[in-house]
Amino acid sequence: MGRLDGRVALVTGAARGIGAATATRLAADGARVALADLDLAGCQQTAAQITAAGGEALPLECDVSDAAAVARTVTAAADRFGSLDILVNNAGITRDNLLFKMSDDDFDRVLNVHLRGAFYCARAAQKHMVAKKWGRIISLSSTSALGNRGQVNYSAAKAGLQGLTRTLAVELGQFGITANAVAPGFIDTEMTRATAQRMGITFEQMTTAASQRIALARVGQPAEVASVIAFLASDDASFVSGQIIYVAGGPVGMSM
Ligand code: NAP
Repeated sequence: MGRLDGRVALVTGAARGIGAATATRLAADGARVALADLDLAGCQQTAAQITAAGGEALPLECDVSDAAAVARTVTAAADRFGSLDILVNNAGITRDNLLFKMSDDDFDRVLNVHLRGAFYCARAAQKHMVAKKWGRIISLSSTSALGNRGQVNYSAAKAGLQGLTRTLAVELGQFGITANAVAPGFIDTEMTRATAQRMGITFEQMTTAASQRIALARVGQPAEVASVIAFLASDDASFVSGQIIYVAGGPVGMSM
């Protein structure tokens, strides 16, 4: 018996990284999982791993910044599995630059994927949750919400997701739906590896420097974020809503 037996989840950005780890973890806990990403082949790969482990998974191609595509994806997941109980807003991109070099397009694209994408997904998913009087919406914020050099777009989107989460909690609580955010610090994924490459340093140099600012003296792994999301998705977190849980290996906003 898994704690998510009978539940249906949709995880965006599930082709790799934190999204893939989350889809895999929710499936291991018993949920049937729809995986949505721009990268269909990556979703199919994650879905195959879930199926091989005895779970049920549905890979779907979706751009979360496209409202019509999101509506089709949510309908496809609900049609296939009969409901939609858990939404994980995970899809994300970075387009880092200092303010004076930040283009309109890079600002808009990051806001559109993270913030508009989460809005579209939550709006489409809530009707299935309201009908069942049970639901979980978990969005990926970041320590960057507190401010981060070179990320005026990303930090604004991640701070915006915190406001969105608290408002979803207020509006949807009466229907038995909780909304929470997890805000990771430095996690070892393609996203952080690409940042190191852009900065012209090795990933090892980057993690060594980052580890010096983390109480646990190391960077995190995708599974360590996924396990917190799985808790928030479960009945174990039935009275937790509107919260931002930092998953950063220590307190955030402190200088070490
Ligand atoms: P990742 O490895 O880059 O994976 C992100 C996934 O999202 C990719 O498969 C990407 O597909 C997909 N995606 C991008 N734009 C999309 C769109 N418009 N529609 C659907 N899917 C899209 O990133 P990650 O590190 O696992 O990050 C996952 C989430 O955690 C993000 O929201 C990120 O901001 C957040 N986060 C990460 C860290 C960290 O240290 N890694 C820290 C804090 C927060 P493509 O490959 O096709 O672009």
